[in-house]
Amino acid sequence: MTSNNHSNDRSAQQDARAWAAFTGCSYQAALRQIQDPLAQGVLGKRISARQLIRTLHEHPVIGGMIGDPEDGFILGEGGFYSENGWSFDGKNDFIELALIADTLRMFSPLATGEKPEVGSYSLKHTVEAFLSETPASYVSNGRLIWAAAVLDLPLEESGHGGPNLLIGIPENEHDYLFKMSRRGQVRPKAHHYRPPGYEHLSSALDRCAAGEPAGERWTRPSPPAEEPAPFHDWLIAQAGRNEPIGDFAADYAEGIRTSAHRIARTADELVFLLTEIHHSPEAYDAAREAIGEWLGTMDPSPGIRTVQISSDHQEVQGYGAGSGNVERFEYLCPCGDGIIVEEHDNIPGFREHSHFIKCGKCRDEWRLIKGRPVYDWALEPVF
Ligand SMILES: [Zn+2]
Repeated sequence: MTSNNHSNDRSAQQDARAWAAFTGCSYQAALRQIQDPLAQGVLGKRISARQLIRTLHEHPVIGGMIGDPEDGFILGEGGFYSENGWSFDGKNDFIELALIADTLRMFSPLATGEKPEVGSYSLKHTVEAFLSETPASYVSNGRLIWAAAVLDLPLEESGHGGPNLLIGIPENEHDYLFKMSRRGQVRPKAHHYRPPGYEHLSSALDRCAAGEPAGERWTRPSPPAEEPAPFHDWLIAQAGRNEPIGDFAADYAEGIRTSAHRIARTADELVFLLTEIHHSPEAYDAAREAIGEWLGTMDPSPGIRTVQISSDHQEVQGYGAGSGNVERFEYLCPCGDGIIVEEHDNIPGFREHSHFIKCGKCRDEWRLIKGRPVYDWALEPVF
């Protein structure tokens, strides 16, 4: 046995003694919970029972007693200053708290200066839905707050009084988990607000449920460098305008907020996005107008490119001057119902480069920008 294992064991035994004394269960029952595979920490190290107990005594927001020591802790099963104290079953309490803590670890930390906005009562329902196949299929408001406190997440009183606190996790990431986990919700179609630890924890819990080891512990990735999204930023900024572009921009912003669709970093990406999601003809027209306006902010206009769907290359016999080839590329048209064709005849004595829009609707609404090489075509809206 290595010294590391040895100190882990000693730490687990000390934890078990403290947990048994605090919750009134036997030492064996406490040790069994502390050594349970689900309590070892998937997204971070195993939480400590002694740290949990210390948190109830000392945490700056939720720590301490209501009044006299016999009155009980400020935090109880029902939440902040709730009437009911703690009721431990002696079987799964520690495992539950460990699972709740792991679930809360999946979220990104709040940015500096960001205020906690997610209510503990709403969050506890989301966490128990996510953990529905585990021993934490019921999560009390108090235990949710307790696990958040032991992780040092920001906690604030809601301003309405009552037993609920505001917990410092990103609201849009909570919304994503809410939609992924709670019954009757439309599942998110885009993943820009997926909590960073979501997939790792989900698959580890699946493995545990199948009787397999949880697997490697997660290391929190450094936040991805923000990709520039000039068109997205411009479009979001149009949301206040009281005309079709403004309405379209507001709908787009709402779709991003609710994870109904992904971010369009460029105008090209918006055109492709619209071929994938349900939208009204009016929305399409407003999007085309918005793209026209956006392209007009640049001189010369870069136009838009669409997605390539096929490429074909054929060697052909020449006309006495050697052989050559014919290339044909097809791209989706902006509306998505037709194509744009780009052809190159690279045959000595017969060279031709051509392109055209093979879609009646798009031929009326878009044109290939003049003066650009055929290989480098781009479209702009026609008004
Ligand atoms: Zn079309």
